[in-house]
Amino acid sequence: MIANIPVPATATVFVKPTVWSKADLHIHTTFSDGYMTPPETIDIIARTARVNVVAITDHDTITGAMIARDYARQSHSNLEVIVGQEITTGQGDVVGLFLQTDLPYFATALEAIEAVHRQGGLAVAVHPFTFGGGMESVHNAIRRLPFDAVETRHGCPLSIPGNIWATLVNRFGQRLPALGNSDSHIPYTVGQAFTWFPGTSAADLYAAIQTNTVRPGGTTWKIGSMLRKLPIVFNRAEARQITGARI
Ligand SMILES: [Zn+2]
Repeated sequence: MIANIPVPATATVFVKPTVWSKADLHIHTTFSDGYMTPPETIDIIARTARVNVVAITDHDTITGAMIARDYARQSHSNLEVIVGQEITTGQGDVVGLFLQTDLPYFATALEAIEAVHRQGGLAVAVHPFTFGGGMESVHNAIRRLPFDAVETRHGCPLSIPGNIWATLVNRFGQRLPALGNSDSHIPYTVGQAFTWFPGTSAADLYAAIQTNTVRPGGTTWKIGSMLRKLPIVFNRAEARQITGARI
């Protein structure tokens, strides 16, 4: 028989406080349709955005993300970069995080998810109900496909109705881990929509998505940041037309 052991009145239980950090997991550079090179992007994020972890997710390539990751390791020890890619599929865009190699075009979103998982990565349904602006979305597939997370807070202000709908469909559907991301093409808006996660590192974030302890935070892009982007859009668009190249 086990005796009841009285707890001394002076006993205290020490609970380690959880540190929460911010991540922005959807950012573009000149390696797809972004306006700044990977080092420029990382420098601006380190200076202006209060995030611990970012993912560079260019369309159809991880090359810029790898350059950004290596650059951050050398130059900004307080910022960790996840290598990602926005994968084009016949059913809408899928972001792969924690990737090792480039992924090709896939006819279906499920094929993209499976390819991401074969690399040990995480597959995210990004802006699932946003239309126009060149964004292709997986819509109601978030109710049935084995995504690891869904972006319910997408940074573009035009996505507000889609964000509300994505939140509702997810809540009454699979209840996937919900992320907030800026989808910045110029990094002044990085971290304005973001993801809260317990811990501080990319490894902590990976675990948080797997245990569904992430939360979307922040807002859509702020007006001041959008105005700051305008001259860059005009100048670089002109340069792109003249050189016909990615800059
Ligand atoms: Zn994007």
